[in-house]
Amino acid sequence: MSTTYRRFDALEAVRKAEKTLIARNGTDSSKLNMNVAEIFGENCLSIDTLKERLPKSVWKVLKKTIRDNEPLEPNVADAVAVVMKEWASEKGATHYTHWFQPLTGATAEKHDSFITPNQGGGAITQFSGEDLLRGEPDASSFPSGGLRPTFEARGYTAWDPTSPAFIIENGNGSTLCIPTVFASWKGQSLDFKTPLLRSTEALNQQALRALKLFGQEDVTWVNSTGGYEQEYFLIDQEFFYRRPDLMTSGRTLFGAQPPKGQELDDHYFGSIPDRILSFMLEAERELYRVGVPVKTRHNEVAPSQFEIAPVFEKANVAADHQQLTMITLKKVARKYGLVCLLHEKPFAGLNGSGKHLNWSMTTSKGGNLLEPGDSPHANMQFLFFFAATLKGVHNHQGLLRASIASAGNDHRLGANEAPPAILSAYIGEQLEDIVSQMKNGGATSSKDGGLLGLGIPVLPNIPKHAGDRNRTSPFAFTGNKFEFRAVGSEQTVSFPSAILNVTAAEAIEAMTDRLEEELGKNGDLEKALKVVLKETFEEIDPFLFNGDGYSDEWQKEAKKRGLLNLKTTLDALPYIASESTIKLFEKYNVLSELELESRLEIYLEQYFIKLNIEAETTEDIARTMVIPATIRYLNEILAVSDRGKTTGLDISTTNVLAKEVNALLSDLIKEVEKLGKVNADLGGDTIPEKAKHLAEVVLPEMNKVRVISDKLEKVIADDYWPLPSYREMLFVK
Ligand code: ADP
Ligand code: MG
Repeated sequence: MSTTYRRFDALEAVRKAEKTLIARNGTDSSKLNMNVAEIFGENCLSIDTLKERLPKSVWKVLKKTIRDNEPLEPNVADAVAVVMKEWASEKGATHYTHWFQPLTGATAEKHDSFITPNQGGGAITQFSGEDLLRGEPDASSFPSGGLRPTFEARGYTAWDPTSPAFIIENGNGSTLCIPTVFASWKGQSLDFKTPLLRSTEALNQQALRALKLFGQEDVTWVNSTGGYEQEYFLIDQEFFYRRPDLMTSGRTLFGAQPPKGQELDDHYFGSIPDRILSFMLEAERELYRVGVPVKTRHNEVAPSQFEIAPVFEKANVAADHQQLTMITLKKVARKYGLVCLLHEKPFAGLNGSGKHLNWSMTTSKGGNLLEPGDSPHANMQFLFFFAATLKGVHNHQGLLRASIASAGNDHRLGANEAPPAILSAYIGEQLEDIVSQMKNGGATSSKDGGLLGLGIPVLPNIPKHAGDRNRTSPFAFTGNKFEFRAVGSEQTVSFPSAILNVTAAEAIEAMTDRLEEELGKNGDLEKALKVVLKETFEEIDPFLFNGDGYSDEWQKEAKKRGLLNLKTTLDALPYIASESTIKLFEKYNVLSELELESRLEIYLEQYFIKLNIEAETTEDIARTMVIPATIRYLNEILAVSDRGKTTGLDISTTNVLAKEVNALLSDLIKEVEKLGKVNADLGGDTIPEKAKHLAEVVLPEMNKVRVISDKLEKVIADDYWPLPSYREMLFVK
């Protein structure tokens, strides 16, 4: 009888792996140059390097684009191209690529060499302003949601001078990566960077206008800032290769709960295992080298779960750096025989992974608009932008929820490990107190500190981590920034960041209009602001919630308050192209109605394809791994039963076991049949119909198959079980 020892091979391989890997990669951290001052940004074409190398006149013009968000002057490109190529060649780069963020949520690149053949049969290297400005990847296979029929498949990429170029190294050569936007030939956006850049401009214009009323005439630009905390799992690649589900879907579609999970909280913030720490050091070093300012690392709640967080930057650069972080984690993990899992829920029953999106606004003078100041004037300004952010999110809660909707994130939201699907804000006790006083016509007291003139409070010292006291809130004010905590670990941060920018822009505009109106009445800023804040805080009142977001009461209470509760991806996605979204996005030129509708279609399609892959993988694993293993084991039990008859041994208990296994086996076969059938059925002709069919019919059937299989995993002989178990994947490091 053949037994499969796949799992034991894996365990054996893992045991041997660490030593050989360390020998091969020289990953003993003492051998890596970790001198941050020396290596930081060495593979990133920084502003300083550009300034040093460009002719002064060109630098002056380019600086206006990079620092002050002014449109790029076309004649600058040639000079920049020369510098870029020179710098990249010195770093050993032979190729360049426009690096962009198509609507798959990942990044894309198509490499071209600098080489141009010459007439004498040799070759020279060349890179022109034209090459820098515009690329033309054959882009017919990127999702376009009908914006770009395949017969006119051309899309083009265009240089984003506000995000620095960088070099990606490989043992065999290096490539210059140039951050770009990606659009159809007709100019429609096919990427995530374009709306982020456009929303930044909307925010810039509205915030500048508002700041003038606060006397800040000399501020030349406002930009949003982003700091993105990334959670991830690491497992040994030997297990990964033996789990077809992890390979195709990024999550385990099978797997009984281990006797020990995360109950003891012994992993959270615990000491970091050696191999993992070596990995982290090298990943961080690679990120430093391309100029990503990563800062913190720690163990997360679930076993084998970790987190990395950077120092915040301007949102556009930070979003590119976030993509680079994900890529680097995945790449470096392989060197250590590990696989980095970025899926939102790789393991059922354990915490999934998210990404906290920290957001604020900064100005050309370096100030943070969400920093409560120590002067009364600064406080007025703070309260204005604080209220505007909340108003924006409150007005477009469905859209913000939709921006983080995905098949993967559906497993986390509302599962008592991540915020619920209801969006609300937590602002901490001190601010809540002030808000309620302002609502009642002006503050009369302040938790600490005094009061100024007309009821604008002197803000107390707001603890920087006040928001941390309520981990159940999806949108928390944490002292000098908002933290949006519902983003999934695998998702792009560009889209939710763009939404925070544009919703804030709209709210700032509306509040500035009102402020001007009130100022027109009596000319007193404090009086006018008091009126505007009162009405804004009244408006957003239902959105503020300091209680337990995980509780059942909140579900009821939120309904009473009229808040949206969009539990699943399919509930949320329509808000991508709802009337209010279209109005908002068109007003600020972020995306057109057509672009929004195509995005909705793409998201639905991606949802549908992902679930379909999961369903096929489930069927496949059940049929080709679990059922055969069960039959082999049953065969062995039945052999004992048979022999019992001739030896006269009492085998009645063995027969009980045979019955149990057989019952589970026949249940499993039946459910797998059903799964195959429902998955073969499309459920309709349109993408929304297909997606609905997968969510409502196929997904529940997949779960049924899993439940039976997980029972079998606990019953049949360990040496027959073909899939690495949770215990092994999560605890063997
Ligand atoms: P933690 O939440 O881990 O206790 P912090 O609150 O200091 O630590 O920072 C969390 C994340 O928020 C970091 O990535 C940090 O860079 C980012 N962050 C801090 N200030 C801002 C800001 N003004 N804008 C955007 N992100 C910020
Ligand atoms: Mg945080």
